[in-house]
Amino acid sequence: MSITEEVTAGDILPAKDAVSMIEQIDLGPTIDIPVVPPEADPEYTPAAERDRLKGEILRLKKERNALILSHNYVQRDIQDVSDAVGDSLFLAREGAKSDADVLIEPSVLFMNQILAAMKKPHQKVLAPDLGALCSLAAHADAGRIRDWKRDHPGGLVISYVNTYLDVKAESDYCCASANAAKVLEHVLEHSDPDQPILFLPDVFLGFFAAKYIEKKGHSLDRLWLMMGACHVHEAIRPHHVEEQMRLHPDAAVVVHPECGCTSACMRQVNTGLVPQDLLQFRSTQGMVKLVREIPQKEVIMATEVGNMYPMSKAAPDKTLIPASAEALCAFMKQNTLQNLHDSLLNLVHEVTVDPELAERAKIPIERMISIG
Ligand code: SF4
Repeated sequence: MSITEEVTAGDILPAKDAVSMIEQIDLGPTIDIPVVPPEADPEYTPAAERDRLKGEILRLKKERNALILSHNYVQRDIQDVSDAVGDSLFLAREGAKSDADVLIEPSVLFMNQILAAMKKPHQKVLAPDLGALCSLAAHADAGRIRDWKRDHPGGLVISYVNTYLDVKAESDYCCASANAAKVLEHVLEHSDPDQPILFLPDVFLGFFAAKYIEKKGHSLDRLWLMMGACHVHEAIRPHHVEEQMRLHPDAAVVVHPECGCTSACMRQVNTGLVPQDLLQFRSTQGMVKLVREIPQKEVIMATEVGNMYPMSKAAPDKTLIPASAEALCAFMKQNTLQNLHDSLLNLVHEVTVDPELAERAKIPIERMISIG
């Protein structure tokens, strides 16, 4: 059996080994992926019923003194009735600022848990569907992190925001895709030169952050990566991007660093095959900002297709092309107008967290919110 066959999702490897085998490991999901509900297609529900539900949600929002915080990947009707739409870092910041009595977040459980850990005593945190999970978060196991810390005394743990609260509670720092490289750089510069550092769970984002710090002259010797991935982003492979670039030679390309094409795309830029300004890497929210700023009229975007809606609102004059039209997160699509409405109406699907875990997890979460 070759070494790459022995490595499985969730394993922890020295960064140099992880980086060398990133394209050969099976990082498939370890949890069942639900079927995308038909209501995820905005056209499935008649327009009059959608309008009725939206009107009711807006009325209930006022009545309950609620704030609706939606992730960019949820269906567009939900985004339209939301107070804030953004990625996990943005929503965590918006939630922390709010005094609303109810925070309701159409997204997935790991984000809902952040709100529940950070909420003020009078607030209630609700989710339209408590069963909306995440294949990437499922790769990170708190027990494995404790084992790694036991084997690496003094080791520091940076966990990506896509982890559950028990993993965050084992972490020293949390980061989002928007500030992953900056958080890693901060930890390298504010730790003992012998202290090992574990970055988890997304190996593609870990690769991206590792290359960033390598460029800045840091060694990767004390960095460890977990072999985790999101099944949606991992499935966006180099051939998807190459095909769209062939079909749209004048288009700019923007890639989320969780994608399975990240390392190949970085190689294209680093070897000068594609100019840096034509192939860029951004977080979910960073893509929305970038599309407004770049001069190109066509933009190929490599991430979950739901991000096209906020991007098209930010730059209505641009033509957006998904690198893969199949990049659809079934967990995010479990949020529907109906379950958002029902949750607000009956004040159900409350997200609660273990207070002891929340206290421990708050420290890395607050560091994430404050860095970059
Ligand atoms: S797109 Fe991937 S990382 Fe994001 S919630 Fe869905 S499964 Fe998790």
